[in-house]
Amino acid sequence: MDTEVKLSITPSTVLEYLYCPRFIYFMEVLDIPQNEETRYKVMEGRNVHKIKALSNAEYKRKKINVIKKEINQEMYSNTYNIHGIVDEILFISDGTAAPLDYKFAQFKDKIFKTYRIQSAMYALMIKDNYGVQVNKGYLVYTRSKNHVEELIFTDDDFNSVKEIVQNIIDIVTKNIFPKRTRVRIRCSDCCYRNICIK
Ligand code: SF4
Repeated sequence: MDTEVKLSITPSTVLEYLYCPRFIYFMEVLDIPQNEETRYKVMEGRNVHKIKALSNAEYKRKKINVIKKEINQEMYSNTYNIHGIVDEILFISDGTAAPLDYKFAQFKDKIFKTYRIQSAMYALMIKDNYGVQVNKGYLVYTRSKNHVEELIFTDDDFNSVKEIVQNIIDIVTKNIFPKRTRVRIRCSDCCYRNICIK
């Protein structure tokens, strides 16, 4: 998270917030780093990049009429106070664009909220940086033979991103101690469990 000029939030920080909002407080307000080994999303990210190198981007997207793509594109959006590196930006023949994101995961007939929110963040970055409509996003599940899922974004998706980003900014700038995750089982192997108020 870049706090020097203007707070700008990454998809990784949003994933951590969605896992437990208190992560943000411990990491960014109290400056207590996480145990690297427990950073499941970071580990996942590393694995994805390994898999990507091996698979050489062999995925099925015949039905997506892609006319151009950009790979590993870093984007900053001052409008939405977010930044990040998207795996691929697909420019589609209808004049729109779409983020494509690799997931080191199996597809189990359900798209996790975290994936949807992360993809919507990339969509907002693309809109802001390229001035194009972004109505869809794509997820490639590398552990399901590169199964491709299409997301159709709604206003609710973009509003959720804006709300989460604002909540994170409030935690950091106003020193707000957030509510704990409602998924209590996460606390049992959390690196902050010994210092977290029950
Ligand atoms: S112990 Fe539980 S509530 Fe506290 S930071 Fe960890 S996951 Fe969140």
